[in-house]
Parts: sequence; structure tokens; C-alpha cells
Amino acid sequence: IKNLIIFGTRPEAIKMAPLVKAFEVKQNSFETKVCITAQHREMLDQVLDFFEIKPDFDLDLMKANQNLFSLTSDIINTLKPVLEEFQPDYVYVHGDTTTTMAASIAAFYSGAKVCHIEAGLRTFDKRSPFPEEMNRSVAGRIADYHFCPTETSKNNLLNENIDSKNILVTGNTVIDALKYSNEKVNSKNFNDREIDSLKAILDAKKQLVLVTGHRRENHGQGFINICNALKQIAEENEDVQIIYPVHLNPKVQKPVYNILKDVPNISLIDPLSYPSFIWLMSQSYIIITDSGGVQEEAPSLGKPVLVMRDTTERPEAVEAGTVLLVGTNTDKIVFEANRLLEDNQFYTKMCMLHNPYGDGMACKRIVEFIKKL
Ligand code: UDP
Repeated sequence: IKNLIIFGTRPEAIKMAPLVKAFEVKQNSFETKVCITAQHREMLDQVLDFFEIKPDFDLDLMKANQNLFSLTSDIINTLKPVLEEFQPDYVYVHGDTTTTMAASIAAFYSGAKVCHIEAGLRTFDKRSPFPEEMNRSVAGRIADYHFCPTETSKNNLLNENIDSKNILVTGNTVIDALKYSNEKVNSKNFNDREIDSLKAILDAKKQLVLVTGHRRENHGQGFINICNALKQIAEENEDVQIIYPVHLNPKVQKPVYNILKDVPNISLIDPLSYPSFIWLMSQSYIIITDSGGVQEEAPSLGKPVLVMRDTTERPEAVEAGTVLLVGTNTDKIVFEANRLLEDNQFYTKMCMLHNPYGDGMACKRIVEFIKKL
């Protein structure tokens, strides 16, 4: 059986890496190749190095001032010879990026069966100014097999009349990645300069609040509100240390550096490589973020999360109570952060909740499913 695993951005690489590993273990029955579009370049390569994955095909499509029109057509056009050369039986795509959508179309044209990992997430706003909902819906329409992180995502697909025999609830592969990574970064012979420099700025006597933010919907007033909240949290809680790896987008950098650069107990740092980020998460007391992946990872490390979004395609976490949705309202962010920092009982209860996103066995389930086809 020939597998082609295609991805292009950092979060996709993190969530597909354990699948590549899982197929490698079963190498006797599978020939598995990896193709990267490199829709993101540097951050993707760091993840591949950490997981010791060498792509077989590198389309190297990252360009300055990328736009969705050229990116979509470049992905389809450059995948054509790859698909013709390797002739995979199964093509694996992940999530909701332009790579996901365009690679599904190319795989469909080639006649391969399309497998969608992290299938069935929906916000139901296809007219949103951002393409993710359409990307994941198109991939879902094309896919032959759907690997869903949760029952909620499976139900979304059943509501779109997808046959239940082609859907498998696996948990999210991000937890498989986290298990591998957490073990590796905490093993004795793992040395990392970035982690050493983090250790140097960490104040062991303080409660660590880790912050990340990148979503386009929060650009503008959203980030100004978020920064004002962080400033207030830092000023009201002397025994708190905020560490914020700031996304490189100028629309994020500008408000963050303007408002927060001189606040004494806030450290603004460059974005972290995946292993350092996992390590820093494991050291934190609470996490404030608008990232999808971080919401899924944090409960497995027992860390409460405040999510700076108004809507979410991850309602399971809100239902399970592992995250609190705070939007970008300054008062709400400050209120919930202070509650977690001050109310020990509330904090402890949140740390003990079960992670609705899985148990780290998702990739094993996917491999077994494909073996039985
Ligand atoms: N992450 C990282 N370095 C950072 C911030 C996040 O490696 O400085 C990782 C994090 O562990 C998670 C993933 O990147 O697995 C989330 O990516 P991002 O927030 O960019 O995207 P989203 O999950 O919102 O699509």
C-alpha cells in the first residue's frame, strides 16, 4: 500500500509527524512518503528536524506576499508530477489550510483515495473573511475517509450525510505528538540551547503565565485589548511572570511591543521552536492563547487555558471545562486570569479535568483502520 502524506504549515507538521512515525513502524505493509508544500518554511523545518522526518518531496512554495489564488494553483500544479511519479493509493491531508484543500483536489484528480485527518471541525460561517471553514469543508466533501478527533466532529460529518462507515473517531494526533515530544524534551540526553536560555529567564518563585496569539480576527482592536489585559494582570499580581513568544506578523508585533515592552514582569520573546514551547507549557501555571493546537495540548499537561476568541470550532474543550472562552474583552480576560491565580480550589479542579481531545493513540487507530481496508 502506497501512502503519501502532504502538509505545509507548522501546526499541520506537528499533527502529521506522529502519523509518519506510525506508518514507519508498519513499514512492511506500507510504503509511505512525505510531501511538504512549505506554505510556511522555517517553522516547518524546525518541526521536521525535531521529529527526524526527511521529506521525500519538497514543493518549496513559500513566497513573499503570498496570496490564496496563486498558492492554491501552485499547490495543485506542483503536486501533479509528484502524484504521477509516486502513484499513491492513499493521500493524507490535515485540517483546514490552503494546502489541505488544494492537495485534496489534486489527490482526487489523481484517483488516489483521500484521507482527512482532524476531520469534521466546523464553525458554520463559510462567509467568514478567512478561508479555514471552506478549506475544511471542501476537504471533507472530497475525502473518502474521515479521521475525527471527537464525537462532536463525527456528528458534524453525519449531518453532512457522510457515511458513518467511512468515519473513525481517533482523538487528535496532536496528543500523540505531545507525548513523543514531552518524553524527548525531558529525557536526560536532550540538550537544547533555547530551553537553557528560557531557564535563565524563568523566575522559579513566580507563577508563570504563558501567552500566545496570532489569529487574524484579533488583529487591530483585539490585540490592543489583549495587551491592556496582560498589562493589568502583570501590574495587579507581583508574583506572576508573563512570558509571551510574540508572533512575527507586524500586526501582532506592533501593539504588543508598544503596550508591553516596558512592563517589568512581562518577557516578550521571539516565537519558540516546538520542543521549547512544549517545555515552557509544562512549566506554566496558566496559558492564555488564541491558538487551536495549544487548547488541545494544554489539558494533557494539566494546564488551564483562557481562550481569546469569541467563537470556537473546538466546543468540546469549553464543554469539558478545560478551557474558558474569554474573547478579547479586557475586563473578562483580567477577571478570569485573576480567578485562576487567586482561587486555588477552582484552579486545581480545572487542572484535573479529562482532555476531550484524546489519549495519544490516534495514529495507531488510523493505521489499523487503513490496514483493514
Ligand atoms: N507552538 C510552537 N511555538 C510557539 C507557539 C506555538 O511550536 O511559539 C506550537 C504549539 O505547541 C502548537 C502549535 O504550535 O502545537 C500551534 O500552532 P499555531 O498556534 O500557530 O496554530 P493553530 O493551532 O492555531 O492552527
